[in-house]
Amino acid sequence: MTIRRRDFLKAAGAAAGAAVLPGCATMRDGTAGKVVVVGGGYGGATAARYLRMWSNGAVGVTLIEPREAFVSCPLSNLVIGGSKTIADVTMPYDALWRRWGVDVVRDTASGVDIDKRVVTTAGGRSFAYDRLVLSPGVEFMFDAIPSYRADPARAVEIAPHAWQAGPQTVLLRRQLEAMPDGGIFAIVIPLAPYRCPPGPYERTCQVAWYLKRAKPKSKILVLDGNPDVTSKAGLFKKAWSEEYRGLVEYRPNHALTDVDLGTRTAKFETADDVRADVLNVVPPQRAGAIARAAGVITANNRWCEVDFLSFESIRGKGVHVLGDAIQIAQGMPKSGHMANNHAKVAAAAILRQLAGQAPNPTPMLVNTCYSFITDKDVVHVASVHQYDSEKKTLLPVQGAGGLSPAMNEMEGRYAFSWAQNIWNDAVGG
Ligand SMILES: Cc1cc2nc3c(=O)[nH]c(=O)nc-3n(C[C@H](O)[C@H](O)[C@H](O)COP(=O)(O)OP(=O)(O)OC[C@H]3O[C@@H](n4cnc5c(N)ncnc54)[C@H](O)[C@@H]3O)c2cc1C
Repeated sequence: MTIRRRDFLKAAGAAAGAAVLPGCATMRDGTAGKVVVVGGGYGGATAARYLRMWSNGAVGVTLIEPREAFVSCPLSNLVIGGSKTIADVTMPYDALWRRWGVDVVRDTASGVDIDKRVVTTAGGRSFAYDRLVLSPGVEFMFDAIPSYRADPARAVEIAPHAWQAGPQTVLLRRQLEAMPDGGIFAIVIPLAPYRCPPGPYERTCQVAWYLKRAKPKSKILVLDGNPDVTSKAGLFKKAWSEEYRGLVEYRPNHALTDVDLGTRTAKFETADDVRADVLNVVPPQRAGAIARAAGVITANNRWCEVDFLSFESIRGKGVHVLGDAIQIAQGMPKSGHMANNHAKVAAAAILRQLAGQAPNPTPMLVNTCYSFITDKDVVHVASVHQYDSEKKTLLPVQGAGGLSPAMNEMEGRYAFSWAQNIWNDAVGG
């Protein structure tokens, strides 16, 4: 079935107004344009699905992603704590092609020719596009840790980061299970910005939840490169001093310089060395490697600056960058929820651009980050971000966000619903 241009323009207009059009898996004609999406995580999978849904199948979408399934970082700290399994946070990509008609290609994008508008892959394939979406997440800066440079694969076996959910998450859980009662678990946190500001502190709580029950003589050291807890500080510190009293010790200003992999010892700029039984080093991060290959890294040699009306790179014409890879606006966390919102703004803008129209001039984005303190008690931080046409950026709307007053079970139920809904939104039918 062919979609007429007039119908597509109607669809693009509706998308910009945030109206959701019914998807139709039978319409794969792609007559209104071709979009290639690199990365099937929170940003990329959502963009792929919404481009198909909002164009009613008129825009052809190819999603390039090496992983067999979508594995969620949100809730993955519960796998480390032991109340969930990795299967609980893993979902297939089937619905993206079956229901939405996205061509899902299992491969790794290795090059982008912006002038010719072609993406090449490690598997030797080429994909032409009218618009390209890059949502590759983060790449770990192993080069910043001397002992990691020669053999990062070995380093992350000894001191897992578990900052990309999957085998690393399972490995860290196994190391924790093998740790003797009375052992030391240490988490090393990089200087912000990094993926998921509250994530390391939530992880601390999940490890504490496990150790409190299984190995109560143990100790958790939180070795933070930042001068203070970077998110929900009061709520996390309260949990450590009450719920996990005596188990957690927080040490700020711990800028990592190296790791002695032979003894699992972390070394710091100004603080004493710390030897741990389980050492969870979260390395500093930058935009995923394909962003460098595409030439769209423009900020601090790490992140991609975008026009927040369309998420189009300020350097790469026709290239839209989403999620953790971007240079964030004020008060905007690197989160799955934000990546999901970036994807919708970008998808609507792309449909309008393909139809020769300007993007919506007043996008509005929302974010909620839930953190599990126990297996069911949760705290949240929420924010709303509105485009400021004078400053040409997204700014937090004063008074529109907020924090939980205290951890509670009701928010635990909300958090599980949030996860289910956002997973459905990205890769569900
Ligand atoms: C422990 C932890 C807990 C978290 N908890 C929360 C939470 O509760 N709420 C929340 O909102 N956020 C949370 N986050 C943050 C969230 O996971 C990220 O912000 C989100 O995944 C970013 O989405 P993205 O699309 O930028 O990257 P990702 O979701 O990482 O997706 C990137 C995808 O790109 C693929 N890729 C990379 N390079 C290429 C290439 N060259 N070719 C093809 N594919 C490629 C990767 O395989 C990957 O699938 C958490 C993160 C962690 C680590």
